Amino acid sequence: MKTAVIFEERKDQIYRKGEQPFELACNRESLAGAVSQRACVFCGSRVVLYPIADALHLVHGPIGCAVYTWDIRGALSSGPELHRLSFSTDLQEEDVIFGGEKKLEAALNELIERYQPRAAFVYSTCIVGIIGDDLAGVCKKVEAEKGIPVIPVQSEGFKGNKRAGYEAACKAMFRLVGTGDTTGISPVSLNILGDFNLAGEIWIIRDYLKRMGVEVVANITGDGRIADIQRCHGAALNLVQCSGATLDLAKMMKEKYGIPYIRVSYFGIEDMAESLYQVARFFESRDPEIMKRTEAVVREELEELHPKLVEFRKDLEGKKAAIYVGGAFKAFSLIKAFRHLGMKVVMVGSQTGTKEDYRELEEITDPGTIIVDDSNPLELSAFIKEKDVDIFVGGVKERPIAYKLGVGFCDHNHERKIALEGFVGMYNFAKEVHSTVISPVWQFAPRRQKQKEAGNE
Ligand code: SF4
Repeated sequence: MKTAVIFEERKDQIYRKGEQPFELACNRESLAGAVSQRACVFCGSRVVLYPIADALHLVHGPIGCAVYTWDIRGALSSGPELHRLSFSTDLQEEDVIFGGEKKLEAALNELIERYQPRAAFVYSTCIVGIIGDDLAGVCKKVEAEKGIPVIPVQSEGFKGNKRAGYEAACKAMFRLVGTGDTTGISPVSLNILGDFNLAGEIWIIRDYLKRMGVEVVANITGDGRIADIQRCHGAALNLVQCSGATLDLAKMMKEKYGIPYIRVSYFGIEDMAESLYQVARFFESRDPEIMKRTEAVVREELEELHPKLVEFRKDLEGKKAAIYVGGAFKAFSLIKAFRHLGMKVVMVGSQTGTKEDYRELEEITDPGTIIVDDSNPLELSAFIKEKDVDIFVGGVKERPIAYKLGVGFCDHNHERKIALEGFVGMYNFAKEVHSTVISPVWQFAPRRQKQKEAGNE
């Protein structure tokens, strides 16, 4: 059964492995009229910068933009929690007509005085781009008066897609890099980029690195601190997780400070272990014992994890999964993780994947798998029904699609409260997949009821 809901203009953004030579269009504007799962530029920048816990985050725009991104990620902090508050200039009609600069300046002055943040990020929204408020000018003035970095984030929502928001966030952070003292940083040191500390995940990774003997200079951005970002150019290496969010910052740091970066993933067994080994290989010439310590970390963790996975696999063997995530990099690890559970991925897609990402997905998936770029709810529903999947992995916008269709769901994005990174994360993932897939509740969903009735006729 092939789906009839695909718009003509989107046909080349969907690929079925084995049916034609690989070719997939991506990285283009979303189709007008089709409700894309993507977020706007502003949202992209906000999700990246938001976890910096001792900064003020002020949204210059109507209140709806601030609400849309308020506490969107469960990014935990081990100290200050200023990031959990959502500030907005709450632009009204009058401000749209006469300009909102005065309101912005007043809000910044009041908030900086009240909360004494280490820096302030000021986000531009659609309406600010349209009315032409001089965000940079106001920020410069307040920065000079208050003596802390006040950084404009040029993230007008309409300017492109979420990926452009990542770039705006990286440009904003790059203004901080290189402004702090790097004295005392170990030659065996790195920055963690692209991890947002959802459910405390960055603490799991930091523990592995500590056991390996590696110093972490800055968390960028989960559990992030302004002072750490200001001195992060003193680290020897950047570890970049995820394909999009902070890769631009790593590239800028490589160009200006000569710091190399490696791309890693902390999801699943192979990718987690390989990420640690990559770090060990990088530092081996400076610390000859590091590989031995790394092997010990991986061995200890796997000895504990393996027997537990074997138990879950008994129930999950042969079940089918669909994946739709923000960045495609995460999907690679998820496919491997499902294989460990004896499950098959039959559909995989992302909001912001690149040609290279999709080519890699094509290589590692099984024949018949649907690969899709910048999808929408109608398409996703049709694919899930066509492939009759047992579980859908996605984010906040995909959850209702799964539940309405009577399919198990695993949140691998913004809202989750359980850590999925690291070896302990693989156990949590397997446990969650197991409990949702084998849950008897799905038989009561209307679609499953209809399927049952049709089968009985
Ligand atoms: S698209 Fe524009 S108006 Fe909508 S949330 Fe994004 S910045 Fe705000």
